[in-house]
Amino acid sequence: MPKELVVCHLYGNLLNTYGDNGNLLMLKYLAEKMNVTFRSEIVSIHEPFEATKYDLVFVGGGQDFEQLIISDDIQTKKESLTEYIENDGVMLAICGGYQLLGHYYMGAKGEKIHGIGALDHYTLSQDNNRYIGDIVIHNEEFNETYYGFENHNGRTFLGKGERPLGNVVKGKGNNSEDGSEGVIYKNVFGSYFHGPILARNENLGIRLIKTALEKKYNEPFNVPQEMQTTE
Ligand code: GLN
Repeated sequence: MPKELVVCHLYGNLLNTYGDNGNLLMLKYLAEKMNVTFRSEIVSIHEPFEATKYDLVFVGGGQDFEQLIISDDIQTKKESLTEYIENDGVMLAICGGYQLLGHYYMGAKGEKIHGIGALDHYTLSQDNNRYIGDIVIHNEEFNETYYGFENHNGRTFLGKGERPLGNVVKGKGNNSEDGSEGVIYKNVFGSYFHGPILARNENLGIRLIKTALEKKYNEPFNVPQEMQTTE
């Protein structure tokens, strides 16, 4: 029996800035290369998030308009998403989605938009400025370098139990101040990388899938030799 990866595409019909949905295509591509069956479904507004149904959750980015709508709805999923995260569920959250996992973010017009506080970060806004451009970060723990493109107004500051996805080598990152980009909390990976992140960073996609399958099947998952990268 082939192993199966079941992915929840959270707010997949609303949060898709700059082609973030491409991450789903990459997860499918990588899973199939590993002989793993791939299945995904969108869970959007007015739909419950059933934590036990999924092996991996992906949530993309959005602008203030979509995020405002989701800010309300996601409160109804706060408990189940927090339970999923605390239970070591694997998640990839990009930009707007990453912001909404934290306590709040300030919209471009100065309005406070609530997240679910499942992670301890918060996000401030900046006046008439965005961080836009190519970005390179390095993760020392995995000895991996990630390449991407960032485009955000928000300035995110990490909190308790959170470590960065990587240290900024080039670009702005979370806030252009402390050299951090993105977040890792338990098995949640957050980032400002659009483009989408997994298209340029297969190593991260492989890491997500391997972690998800090892948790699901409770046994080591061997990534095929030809997919193992050295950097
Ligand atoms: N509205 C948020 C910001 O600009 C998120 C943008 C995004 O997802 N690209 O910070």
